[in-house]
Amino acid sequence: MSKSKSAETVKVVVRCRPMNEKEKAAKFDLVVAVDVKSGQIMVKNPREASASELRKVFTFDSVYDWNSKQLDLYDETFRPLVDSVLLGFNGTIFAYGQTGTGKTYTMEGVRNDPERRGVIPNSFEHIFTHISRSQNQQYLVRASYLEIYQEEIRDLLSKDQSRRLELRERPDTGVYVKDLSSFVTKSVREIEHVMNVGNQNRSVGSTNMNEHSSRSHAIFVITVECSELGVDGENHIRVGKLNLVDLAGSERQSKTGAQGERLKEATKINLSLSALGNVISALVDGRSSHIPYRDSKLTRLLQDSLGGNARTVMVANIGPASYNVEETLTTLRYSNRAKNIKNKPRINEDPKDALLREFQEEIARLKEQLQKRSGKKKRRRRRRGGEGSDGEDLEEGETEDDDEEAGEDRGEQQENYWREQQEKLERERKAIMEDHSLVADDKVRLLKEKEKKMEDLKREREAGEMLTAKVKAMESKLLVGGKNIVDHTNEQQKMLELKRQEIAEQKRREREMQQQVESRDEETLELKETYSSLQQEVDIKTKKLKKLFAKLQAVKAEIQDLQEEHINKRQEMEQTQNELTRDLKLKHLIIENFIPSEEKNKIVNRAYFDEEDEYWKTKPITRMEDDHQMMSRPLSAVGYRRPLSHHARMAMMMRPDMRYKAENIIMLDMDLPARTTTEYQEPVIAPKVAAALEDALRDEDEIQVDASGFHSSSGPTPPASASSSLKKPKSGRPRTGKKSSTPTSPFSLPSPGSPLYPQSRGLVPK
Ligand code: ADP
Ligand code: MG
Repeated sequence: MSKSKSAETVKVVVRCRPMNEKEKAAKFDLVVAVDVKSGQIMVKNPREASASELRKVFTFDSVYDWNSKQLDLYDETFRPLVDSVLLGFNGTIFAYGQTGTGKTYTMEGVRNDPERRGVIPNSFEHIFTHISRSQNQQYLVRASYLEIYQEEIRDLLSKDQSRRLELRERPDTGVYVKDLSSFVTKSVREIEHVMNVGNQNRSVGSTNMNEHSSRSHAIFVITVECSELGVDGENHIRVGKLNLVDLAGSERQSKTGAQGERLKEATKINLSLSALGNVISALVDGRSSHIPYRDSKLTRLLQDSLGGNARTVMVANIGPASYNVEETLTTLRYSNRAKNIKNKPRINEDPKDALLREFQEEIARLKEQLQKRSGKKKRRRRRRGGEGSDGEDLEEGETEDDDEEAGEDRGEQQENYWREQQEKLERERKAIMEDHSLVADDKVRLLKEKEKKMEDLKREREAGEMLTAKVKAMESKLLVGGKNIVDHTNEQQKMLELKRQEIAEQKRREREMQQQVESRDEETLELKETYSSLQQEVDIKTKKLKKLFAKLQAVKAEIQDLQEEHINKRQEMEQTQNELTRDLKLKHLIIENFIPSEEKNKIVNRAYFDEEDEYWKTKPITRMEDDHQMMSRPLSAVGYRRPLSHHARMAMMMRPDMRYKAENIIMLDMDLPARTTTEYQEPVIAPKVAAALEDALRDEDEIQVDASGFHSSSGPTPPASASSSLKKPKSGRPRTGKKSSTPTSPFSLPSPGSPLYPQSRGLVPK
């Protein structure tokens, strides 16, 4: 169904910003020369100041110097692209360049200043003006805004800014961002609001907005759907999608000294940009069949814009000052390659996912519902009118099919109808109340009936109103033009725009011719081979030689530059690789030494490669059926769906009501604590001490008490046995008895005059 067009190349324009105050103050050299007429940029290399002719020259579709106005760019370069989006083509505008060279200025510009507004606001104006001038067409415009930072996609219009979105692919519509929010906008003001909300969200959460914006890609997407009656009498829908991309700064992120997280960040930041470069190279190369779109989110998302179904304009922004010359040259080389990318844009007609179609179908469905309702109403009315019960209904003698009647008219009639119905019911109610012939019971019944009717009426009315409101809301989103087409100023403005466009077109053609003339110059030089004299021939050939020699030198210099750049890049990559390898080794060592091998194996078994995301992931842990380690069910849950307290179980059995049913207390098996005490064990006495004690106790038997002094007069005592009789009586008392207990026996009655001193007990051997 889609009209195909022959391939066309990506249009590349270069814009050089003015010197800023700082650069002026520091008196930097101006090294960039811009030839707007021929579309050339000349860069003087400050390192080779002597060889002034060794300027590097780049040719582009158009170039803009520091005096260029935003509107010039828009009219010459962007307007045709947006126009084709309005026709149903996909279009993309990239702003590429080092940070601080004017990417955001070109894309967004200065808000609130009509002169310095960028492409995005200008395209809003353009799109809605176009719609307001259209005739017999229906439009649906919606906008999305997203950001890619460190290979994560953030929806700048969603409420939850912490959420990261994913890319998905469908065979029919290609790559898209899953769950990306998009807002239907009905006017410039509304879409501007969408942009502002997104911009606010973009700065939220970034401590340094400048740094953040220089490291992230912002993509504003406008989708324009247009429905028009085709020659075949059917409605056809064309869908154009405009991607407005403010890329991250192209300067190389310094990786030196970065480690761990920082290194990862640095490698990730420019991943999308380097992938973009690789995609461009692969596309231009022509030999490589594989285009590495899948290497980054950006390239995947904008796959169509590079070598696919889209018209693409790339704006390369550069700065003019000498200290930026390396970056400037890199940017120019990069965009110079992009010139050769071939796209195959075509009008997207009747795609499956056109929202406009859905809207139209929904509106038709709702209208049909409304129609049915009003049909029902009318029939009822007519029937009732026929009965002749109420005369007032008859006056509404309307025609059968009043489809064509104006909306307001119908609304008014509906309003009248509702009012009448209500009044009638009210009147009937009153009549019943006042009717004394009825029995009280009947009265109540009738009244109830009437009340119910009134209730129904109200409900029906509300439903009808809701439906009408819904239809209105949906219809208001579909934009139609042609209302103020006769507006005189509008007409004049249109003429003005047309003229401006013509001028832009003329300029473009002039430039093209100039470029052609230049390239032909060289050829014609060769053709002029009829020389009048030898001298002339020598002169001409010398001139030619000089020119070619200069060219050769330029090419040689360029080759050398490229080689140097290549080597630098390679070194940087090698460094990154080394660091990543080191990182990997460290992780390996940690795994080998600190993670049990069975744990490692478990993780290895769970790991799988997600083709969609191109990322290693781990499967969630699932309990195997035959796993004996499955947790036992808590006691209180056996036989129930979940743990229940004893009280709740009793309550369930006793009472049918629901109270206490959900009292859930988990009852678990008694958890016996581990014993923390031990049985008492007698202390073990050290052998030395034991021996000493033994010694001491043995000797006790031989305690001798000199009892000679205690002789009693009561009777003779055999002196031989005196010592034995004075032996301490054996008792249960521990032998280590109190020392104070003096050996007292019935035989020994110490005389008061002689104090008794205990004798050595032999603790110390005699
Ligand atoms: P980038 O987005 O590439 O980092 P900006 O758009 O933020 O750069 O531009 C940096 C500064 O230069 C801003 O203050 C901007 O106003 C200014 N600037 C850039 N381009 C132009 C231009 N063509 N004319 C005037 N000022 C410009
Ligand atoms: Mg910026």
